[in-house]
Amino acid sequence: MPKIVFVCREGSDEPRVAASPESVKRLTGLGLSVVIESGAGLASGVRDADFEATGARIAGAGEVGSADIILRVNRPTAAEMASYKPGAVVFAVMDPYGNEAALAGMAKAGLTTFAMELMPRITRAQSMDVLSSQANLAGYRAVIDASHEYGRAMPMMMTAAGTVPAAKVFVMGAGVAGLQAIATARRLGAVVSATDVRPAAKEQVASLGAKFIAVEDEEFKAAETAAGYAKPMSEAYQAKQAALVAEHIAKQDIVITTALIPGRPAPRLVTRAMLASMKPGSVAVDLAVERGGNIEGSEKGKVADVEGVTVIGYANVAGRIAASASALYARNLFAFIETMVDKGTKEFAVNLEDELVKATMLTHGGQVVHPNFAAAAAALAGGEAPVAAPVATSAPAVISIEEPAAAKPVRARKKPVADEAASNGDL
Ligand code: NAD
Repeated sequence: MPKIVFVCREGSDEPRVAASPESVKRLTGLGLSVVIESGAGLASGVRDADFEATGARIAGAGEVGSADIILRVNRPTAAEMASYKPGAVVFAVMDPYGNEAALAGMAKAGLTTFAMELMPRITRAQSMDVLSSQANLAGYRAVIDASHEYGRAMPMMMTAAGTVPAAKVFVMGAGVAGLQAIATARRLGAVVSATDVRPAAKEQVASLGAKFIAVEDEEFKAAETAAGYAKPMSEAYQAKQAALVAEHIAKQDIVITTALIPGRPAPRLVTRAMLASMKPGSVAVDLAVERGGNIEGSEKGKVADVEGVTVIGYANVAGRIAASASALYARNLFAFIETMVDKGTKEFAVNLEDELVKATMLTHGGQVVHPNFAAAAAALAGGEAPVAAPVATSAPAVISIEEPAAAKPVRARKKPVADEAASNGDL
């Protein structure tokens, strides 16, 4: 019997879907039987018939109970997972930090769950990197949203009636989203500058044709962690950065902020006073609004007037470009699932020794197994965390979702999937 993959229709606040006609075709090619919940793709511009045409079956929500593998964009609610069968394997963006009670609920439901956003940023997993695929589109969309609110043209236009000056765009934080925002603003003809605290960003910004602006002191030279992320900066550095930004921002028309520090609230980079110094009609986009915001006064889910500047604080910005975001997310999921299917036997099995599984598996065998969350979840449940994370030492290395794990032999790890690396943006 082929394993059943069920693709859920998300809640009303999520336009994305965890499959595309292309991913359905490829999942089917792996020997999996794909069932799509009716209407799941509509908000991403994919009709049931489009999924059917590439090999899926359309069904009502009730059929999720027979699924072996469940694909979602967001973590299931308690009510949704109540109809999943114990032992089902769920892939989603799980938002695990601070949501340990929900993780404990998934463990209790007997689900094996994977948080796609915990995928390590290593070469082998590039094609599965949902943070990059979605941040890239969010960076693009931030510029589109800004230009929509901006009452002027972005490029310089010399017409018989006079000259329209090019918009000046300042991008703060030059990671995946920021670099795409720079590239997009440049394509629209804006004069672009950018800042970051990581020295590596300087060359990347310059290569996109933007001017790099930063306090380049000794602290700046050591601001990147081994994993490539920014460190929290000292108060002294922040003060110097604020002085530089205050001077620069007053001359800008559009500011787009994307600055994040893993595991911490977003750094506050733009104050009300800085906004007040901008020209009337200026626009600011806070892509970090869901993590506390880079801009003082930005409001999640809202377009607000702060000191005369239109401050855009949309949540789920990738969802505002849902068709593209869903297509890339579906490819990320496919690339991960493909590593779990034996090409010869077409058997789906989770290799607990695989570094990608270790990094992303949240719950398994009735427990929260991820080392970052096991203790907190156990405390909530009034029990003890499993000692050997992510799985108990007695667990077999490979589990099948059909049979008790003990019966399964250890399967060799598959080779990395390289052919989809290009799906994660043109940065
Ligand atoms: P992120 O979302 O964590 O942060 C966004 C940006 O904000 C980063 O560039 C960060 O340096 C910057 N930032 C933080 N504090 C700041 C401050 N006070 N002022 C200005 N800027 C600040 O980062 P990300 O987009 O996820 O990318 C992080 C790194 O990972 C980058 O180096 C990126 O190139 C790298 N990356 C690697 C891979 C891979 O190897 N597979 C994939 C994606 C990203």
